[in-house]
Amino acid sequence: MLVVHPSSCCDICLDPYSWETPECTPHAIPCGHIFCRRCLSHVDPPTCPLCRKAYTSERFKKLHVDRPDEVVDPTEVTLLQKFVLKWDGPEDELAEVTSEVNSWLSDTADDTPLKKARDVLSRYQRIRTKLEQERRKFQQQERTSRALEEQLELAKAREVEITSYWEQQLVGIHSFLEVNVLIILFRFPTTKLASPSCKPRYLQ
Ligand SMILES: [Zn+2]
Ligand SMILES: [Zn+2]
Repeated sequence: MLVVHPSSCCDICLDPYSWETPECTPHAIPCGHIFCRRCLSHVDPPTCPLCRKAYTSERFKKLHVDRPDEVVDPTEVTLLQKFVLKWDGPEDELAEVTSEVNSWLSDTADDTPLKKARDVLSRYQRIRTKLEQERRKFQQQERTSRALEEQLELAKAREVEITSYWEQQLVGIHSFLEVNVLIILFRFPTTKLASPSCKPRYLQ
């Protein structure tokens, strides 16, 4: 069995041999050199481009060669290369390559390397989007909790302010009452306070 390497190409047109187009399959001429049928039928005069031996168009023979199982379509290789170059690049460029890949894959039922790459990439993108959403949610929560902390700090400060204001007011009222009780007791020594508990501490 003779197997043609995926990178083998016709030495005249430099196109890779294709099994889909009969014109592009390898053909041998009597000198032993091999080219695609399309090129051989266009060489004028018909002499081998490599060794200059003449041939006639009836004398070139189709070669029954096989392609290896793992052969990859050259378009697929090009798309794979583009994919590798763009997968982490700007989103619009990646979207362009992805749509090119999808249209190529729509004609292919096989589980090709490009299909696997496309599936892995779309999984990666889904995970990346999810991660981005989670990160934004977390940042939002962080902002909210910082705002709440600030409000709590303000409320505490206000509470201290109000408490100390009323404490001062109470001290003021208390000293005013003490002075007046002393005056009443001094002016009217017989006055009995309604309840001993109303007396300031030092009078009890
Ligand atoms: Zn050719
Ligand atoms: Zn030749």
